[in-house]
Amino acid sequence: MLYIQNLSAGYGKKRVLKGINLSLAMGESLCVLGPNGCGKTTLLRCIGGLLPSQGILELDGVPIGNLKPKEIAQRIAFMTQIPSIYFSYTVFETVLMARYAKGARGFAGPSPKDMQIVEHYLEETGLSSLRNCQISHLSGGQLQRVFLARALAQEPDIILLDEPTNHLDLRYQLQLITYLKNWAQRNQRTVIGVMHDLNLALQLSRNMLILREGTVAAQGDANHILNPEFLQDVYGMDVAGYLLQSYAQWKELLDGSERSQ
Ligand code: ADP
Repeated sequence: MLYIQNLSAGYGKKRVLKGINLSLAMGESLCVLGPNGCGKTTLLRCIGGLLPSQGILELDGVPIGNLKPKEIAQRIAFMTQIPSIYFSYTVFETVLMARYAKGARGFAGPSPKDMQIVEHYLEETGLSSLRNCQISHLSGGQLQRVFLARALAQEPDIILLDEPTNHLDLRYQLQLITYLKNWAQRNQRTVIGVMHDLNLALQLSRNMLILREGTVAAQGDANHILNPEFLQDVYGMDVAGYLLQSYAQWKELLDGSERSQ
């Protein structure tokens, strides 16, 4: 279980997060939403042990701040927007890197089990035929699948997503989020996703944490917390009106194209 109580964090003297409370059982996923700058990425960094915080932040009763980076990597994987690639490795090598968090073999190299696990996740993500390609030669969609395979090969309890779908087309966005949702449900694992796209967020989980200026504006099932006034208040715009208007526009367009066929 991930347990957060009265968490605060920031950068230097700047307090970004204040009084955050959250508890998530393994198998539960969560979407973290809110306007730019409200602290979503900062919260993920705290959970991933990349940023120190004050208050209680525990994974199965152990303060995350007390865990060594390798111990954190055994439990938590991070998927972000596609990073710039400075060094080119093959697809296989990139996914194999995930196993260093698990293995204690150091210079002995990966074990047969590590190789098997990498093969499994290459297969699972449809990358087997690209195994020897340099990752610098891949498209955005293929590259994000490599990072998905790497996160899965870490065999973590929690995957943190920080807008991982930004450079993906619609098909890959939906594929990635659906895959992760099913992965969490099938294996009793947790995905915590920061996403801007409210439609995509709903595909991951109806369990939501909405931040506003570093504090929790609402938390719970989308059914109970999302209403037009609340969304207007948090985002400073008529989100519900915009979504319904888009839907009406699409409906009109698609109904029209059906008639003309
Ligand atoms: P969000 O993910 O909701 O857009 P962030 O967590 O990235 O928001 O940022 C929250 C606030 O913290 C913003 O005001 C941002 O400018 C600030 N911030 C983020 N990263 C840093 C950093 N490395 N150093 C200083 N301030 C930062």
